Parts: sequence; C-alpha cells; structure tokens
Amino acid sequence: MNRTRILGLCALLSLSLLGCQKAKSPDKAQGPVANVTADRLLKATDEPSQWLTHGGSYEEQRYSRLAQVNRETVKTLGLSWFADYDTNLSQAGTPLFIDGVLYVSTAWSKVYAFDAKTGKALWQYDPKVPGEWGINVCCGLVNRGVAAWNGKIYVGTLDGRLVALDARTGAPVWSMQTTDNAWRYAITGAPRVVKGKVLIGNAGGENDVRGYVSAYDAETGKQLWRFYTIPGDPSQPPENDAMKMAAATWPKTGDWWKIGGGGTVWDAITYDPVSDLLYIGTGNGTPWNQRFRDAKHGDNLFLASIVALKPDTGEYVWHYQQTPGDNWDFDATPHIMVANLKIDDADHRVVMQASKNGFFYVLDAAKGTLLRADAFTEMNWATGVDKKTGRPIENKAARYQDGKPFNGLPGPQGGHAWHPMSYSPDTGLVYIPTQEAYFPWVEDPKYTHRKVGYNLGIDFGAPGWFYQKNPKEKNAFQSYVKAWDPVAGKEVWRGEVSQGPAGGTLATAGGLVFQSGGSSQEFRAYDAKTGEKLWHLDAQTGLVAGAISYELDGQQYVAVSVGGNMPGGYFAPNYSRLLVLSLGGKATFPPLKDYTPPPLDPPANTAAPEVVAAGAAVYGKYCAACHGVNGQTRGATFPDLTRTPLLHTQEGFNQVVLQGARAAKGMVSFATELKAEDSAAVLAYLVDRATQMKSAPPPPAGLLAPREAPKQAHE
Ligand code: CA
Repeated sequence: MNRTRILGLCALLSLSLLGCQKAKSPDKAQGPVANVTADRLLKATDEPSQWLTHGGSYEEQRYSRLAQVNRETVKTLGLSWFADYDTNLSQAGTPLFIDGVLYVSTAWSKVYAFDAKTGKALWQYDPKVPGEWGINVCCGLVNRGVAAWNGKIYVGTLDGRLVALDARTGAPVWSMQTTDNAWRYAITGAPRVVKGKVLIGNAGGENDVRGYVSAYDAETGKQLWRFYTIPGDPSQPPENDAMKMAAATWPKTGDWWKIGGGGTVWDAITYDPVSDLLYIGTGNGTPWNQRFRDAKHGDNLFLASIVALKPDTGEYVWHYQQTPGDNWDFDATPHIMVANLKIDDADHRVVMQASKNGFFYVLDAAKGTLLRADAFTEMNWATGVDKKTGRPIENKAARYQDGKPFNGLPGPQGGHAWHPMSYSPDTGLVYIPTQEAYFPWVEDPKYTHRKVGYNLGIDFGAPGWFYQKNPKEKNAFQSYVKAWDPVAGKEVWRGEVSQGPAGGTLATAGGLVFQSGGSSQEFRAYDAKTGEKLWHLDAQTGLVAGAISYELDGQQYVAVSVGGNMPGGYFAPNYSRLLVLSLGGKATFPPLKDYTPPPLDPPANTAAPEVVAAGAAVYGKYCAACHGVNGQTRGATFPDLTRTPLLHTQEGFNQVVLQGARAAKGMVSFATELKAEDSAAVLAYLVDRATQMKSAPPPPAGLLAPREAPKQAHE
C-alpha cells in the first residue's frame, strides 16, 4: 500500500469517525504481529520474554520470570531509550510487549506501537474522543492498557467505544459503541481477551450510570453477553436470577435507579483458567452518600463486590460484597490476582485484592469463600471483618449521618486504588501501592441530581474548610509500597513515603520489586525480600503506572510509562514518556526545559465576603473535582485557576464557564447548572484565594499533602 493510498484511507476512516494512525511501518507488514492465541495466553508464564496481557498472565501477578536484572546487577540498570508522548497529562497505561513490538495506551485513549529494539514509533492511533466528553471522566483522561489477540490490539475509549486495531498498522478493524452516550459512561480500563472474547467494563460511578461488563467477539466486534452489576427499574421484571437477588437489597420504589446506581466495572477483570471463572471488581454506589439512594441502608448488591461469572455466557456464579451499603466510594475495583496459597495447612486456589476500603481479601477462587480479610493499612471506618458473616464491623460514626462530619481513613482515594500491585511466588509477598489518605465526610443536605459534574451527596469541597476549622484532626495523603504477607495477614516491609498517590509495582525473579514512585519522580527497585532500596532513576516527572519486563535478543528490559502529578502544573513542559531500561543502558534525558509557573497576579480583591462564600460553595460543588480544593490543583491534569489571566476579565471567565469556549479541551459550558451571578461569585472566590496565597505562599505543590482534593486515585 503506497503512502497516497494510506493517506486516502486515513481520510476515509476519519470521516467514518474511526480515527487513524499517523504513520506506518512497511517492513512490519511481513510476518505475524501480535500473534496472540488462546494457547499463548494460557501458557504466558512459559514465555517470560513476552508481556502478552495486562497483568503479565491470566493470573495477573505482574511477576516477571526474567532474572538478568537482579539484586546484584541492578546497579548498572540505565535508560536504553525513551519516547515522548504528545501530552502533558498523567499516564496510567501498562504496555504490552509482543514479538518485538511495544504497544501502549496513553491519555485520551491513544495507542502507540514502538519497535522495541530501536524505539522507533511504528504507528499511533488517535480515536479522536470529542474534547467535550472529558467533563464526563471523573479522575484524569487516562487509559490503563490495551489487549492483544490474533493480530489485533484492543483499546477502550473515554467515550465508550471498544476499538480493534490492526497490530501491524494501527488501522481500525472494527469499532463498537459499548455504552449509551445519553449516560455519562467512560472507559479508562484495559480490555482482556478470554476464549476469543474481548471483555470490557466502564466507569462513571461518580456521575449517574448503571455498571456492567460486556463480552464482544474478538474478530467481529459482535456483542456476546452483558452482565449488569446492579438492578434496573424495580417496576420491571429483573433481567436474570442474579438481578432478582440484587433487587431485594435495593429500594422497591423511588428514583434511585434513574441515575443508574453505580457499581461500575472500571478496572479489575481477571480470568482464572483453573476455575474457568471471570472475576470482576465493582465500584461505589451513586450517589456516594447512601442515604440519597437508599435511606433504609440496604446492602445494595452488587456494589463494592467481587463477582465471579462464567466467561462463556456472563452468568453469575458467586459474589463477595466487601462494603455492604457502600457510603464512602469504596470501589472493590482494584487489581484482582489469582494464586496458589497454602492457608491453614491446606492448598488453595485463591483470588486476592487489596481493596480501596483498606482490607486485603483472600477468597477461594472456585466458591468465593472468605479465607482472609486483614486491614493492610490504618483505618478508622471499621475495626475488622466478621469472619462468619464476611461483613465489616463498622464504626457507627463513619456513616456521617445526622450532619455529623467524619474524618475518614481511608478516604475516597482508597487504601489502594488502581495502581497495579504484584506478587512474587519466590517471596510469597504481595507488593501493594499503599495509600494513607484522610477525607472529611460531610453530608450535603441540599443534594439534588445534577447533569454536569459529580453526584455524590456530600460536600466535596469539605477538605478546603474542615481542616482549617479542625486543625487537630489528622490530615494526610501519602503513599509507599508495602510488602504484604497474604497468608499471615501482616506487613513485612514498606518503602519510602511519597506525598500524593501511589505508583504501580512489578515483581521479578531477579529478587526485585520495581515501583513507580509517584510525586517523588523516582522509578525505584527494592530488594523483594528485605525492602532495601537498591536502585533508582530520576524520571523528571511524577509516575504512577505499572512497569513490565521483557527480553529481546538476550537482553532483559524494563519498560514503564511516566508522566503526571508533577509540581510544575498544567502548563509546564511535557515529560510524559515511555521509558525502556536495560543493564548498561546509557541514554540520557534532555535537560529540563526552563519553566516558571505563571505568577499569582490577582486583581484587587473587592468582593463582599458573602459573595466569596457563595463562590466557595459553587466552586466546591462544580469545580473542585478537576481544579482542586482551594482553587489550586496538585498535578498537571487541569489548569490552576488561581493563576489564570481570566481572573482579570469576568467576560472572558464567563465565556469559558457559561459559553463553553474551551469545550474542546473538556471544559464544557456549565450554563445548565450555573447562572451569571454564580460565575461572578466563583471568580470572586478565586480572586480571594489568589490574594491569600500571594500573601502567604503555600509550599511547592509536590509537597502539598494536606488540604488537597483527591486526584487520580479514585474513580
Ligand atoms: Ca469510585
């Protein structure tokens, strides 16, 4: 195919809204590329040179059997090559490595293919997600990974499409809309392929969606089955027996179902070939505050649960609900892994999860029986799990009812969120990206459903005032890797503490644990047994994604996507990249670009205090989720509004807030929710904030642990 024809095809495909690759590698057109088969996936651990599926193998242990890079040699680990991405947004993607090619997804659901030997970009695919859809994505415009099967690469897009790409060219083979865009669904999670079916979930539990997971024929894109995680309209017959069981735990009347109810399957989808079951993790309830969806506090199945399904049909097999009647955004969505463990002198095939609610769960893979539930981090919402009933023993104050705030731990950031954990069969330890994050739960007594922004039923801006009013209350958001013994239910070691979200881990047969060090900007290697820090690389940027390892021409490599959460802010230079490392690697980054953040330069602060207060309330409700509590974002995801030139022009500010002047970047018009006086009040609040900050500058954003909105870590 010559270049003219390719461009012509690109134009056609663009017209058909499938998007198109930017470049093509003609020499890669020969021979199979991404020739992933059922047999290869089942035996992925027999091919340690490859990284064929999201978690490394179906068990998703993220354990590499390669050992060239080990405790002794890691000191010479260096950068082999790197590739810049076209964005300054946060990166969450785990790459795949298949037969010499690296495939990785980045922000806005884009996919890159790189020749792993040279680092040359073979193609890039941009699904051209409409910028306006960004407002429907809760926690960063991220994508956590792709899947591969029979010459195709699969990616889910922020606007709900599942797209199959030709692995050789990046050209779309098929594209299916997996969601109804009358609802505010988004896809950020990685698809998985099981028995020729592509499995994909979705996100949106902070908005107003009904969660589900679907299976599509990998070759044709035909939908094969769909499993809803919570019931629908109670006046209609339940879709199946599982929904009948679930409906008994929800109100029989009322409007709760009209905003979906939540329960989204936004990350964990794990297949175990031994039990032949699929395990999905389900998200929080909508709204977060249970009182506004179910005043009688039913269990609300299958929120915050691990549910086992038959992969062939999507039929329900068992479930374990971690947080009945979820009230705290305690998604049970983090990474689920499968392993063989000896527990109480018996061999068990288990599934394991370090949940957002702070408990580490070990369940029998075939039956879902609870084997272990231990707090892997400090918590104050529960004192333990009743082993007989499997239910958490709640602290009564934790439900923040009757207008009484509760300073909760973990907060909605989670004791562990999506950041991939890993397991080493050599040490028997799980390496958990652990977070310690408080959040003041304060009910919003005036809550009503909104069509733009979050539907939470709480004061999401509360961190902005609660800790000022209550300076003695504990307040932190920090993270570290924790080595956890899942059988003994205890910590063995922990790594260095970083401020803000945790980063993913990778365990290897070289006796190492690699960790993306979050805001520390370090990519690190620890001794898997002792926790001794053996090596690190300055990544020039924050990093939170999970790394992989592979082998090419006798050389072991470690690859990781970096970028985001850096102190520089939204307008800072771009250091979002794919890093590839090997022993003796000698590549170096270009020097950091000169950058000075825009100064704090507010106009005269003349608004009346009651206008500023009204602006603070509107800001907390509609703006804080993206732009940060107190008017200042931590990371690079969205602009810092205390430094915008728009503070000097109410007209310009209104054009953005009410007329959608920046809709293409995700900042849609809020005119359906806000009036001109609201926009004026928000501006007055931001001017007040900027004025206060100017007189007492806060510490650098990277060190700003307290009084920050949760960012990136919840969904
Ligand atoms: Ca959530």
